[in-house]
Amino acid sequence: MPELPEVETIVRDVRPKVLGRTIVRAELSHTDVLRGVTRPTLLRGLTGARVADVFRRAKHAVFDFGERRLVVQPGMTGALLIHRKPLDEDELRYAVLRATLDDGRLLVYRDVRRLGTLLWLDPRGWARYDAAIGPEPLDRAFTAEAMRAAAGRTRQAIKKALMDQRLVAGVGNIYANEALFAAGIDPSRPADQLTPEEWGALHRELRRILDAAVTGRGSTVRDYRTGTGAKGKFQLSLLVYGREGEPCVRCGTHLAGTHAIDARITVFCHRCQA
Ligand SMILES: [Zn+2]
Repeated sequence: MPELPEVETIVRDVRPKVLGRTIVRAELSHTDVLRGVTRPTLLRGLTGARVADVFRRAKHAVFDFGERRLVVQPGMTGALLIHRKPLDEDELRYAVLRATLDDGRLLVYRDVRRLGTLLWLDPRGWARYDAAIGPEPLDRAFTAEAMRAAAGRTRQAIKKALMDQRLVAGVGNIYANEALFAAGIDPSRPADQLTPEEWGALHRELRRILDAAVTGRGSTVRDYRTGTGAKGKFQLSLLVYGREGEPCVRCGTHLAGTHAIDARITVFCHRCQA
């Protein structure tokens, strides 16, 4: 699933091409991606709507139409793309939402397996949605103390706490693994037992890695594509994710892998992470 850096990259690619544009026609090929909205309501709302802003919240792309907001939560195989020409057969097959803009271009949400979701929120719905998600790790207000206040009150494993969107926004399996390795913290440690020094290190490393991953246009380990359809580059800089059994870059010990913490793969170094 795309995480903060991947969705940020998509939003930065798409934003300049859709900002201020009006949707003249909207089509939806499948309704199974819709949550809390029907096809007629969504299409009626989108038609004639002007894109006032596009931004990211957690792992989602948000299209702000003034009164209403369209929240796109790309699943494993979801992508947002701008097309200048009519879609070919293959593009058409996986295009879930097609919005024709007033300059003739097409904004497409493509999703091969349709694991993503689309929300259509009024101001109250938006407030509820936004309040249910934790602070943004790249915000200026996200200090080490703020991070500890958000994620340090649970006895759950620190890796689980990091990935819990109610506690911290935008961090998934890839960047949780990377940040914990860089900070030298055992992913299975209860979050409420980390020392202030460890929170300091984790905060610093998480922000450094997320920032570098945004610069690297995200990590393509499988399906993720940027808003221009290209692969990201940050997968080349991952030090533990996908490297189970390989030597640790710091000490040479073989990296361990476990599914015991959260059923997802956790890769870590027994010697460097205490
Ligand atoms: Zn090591």
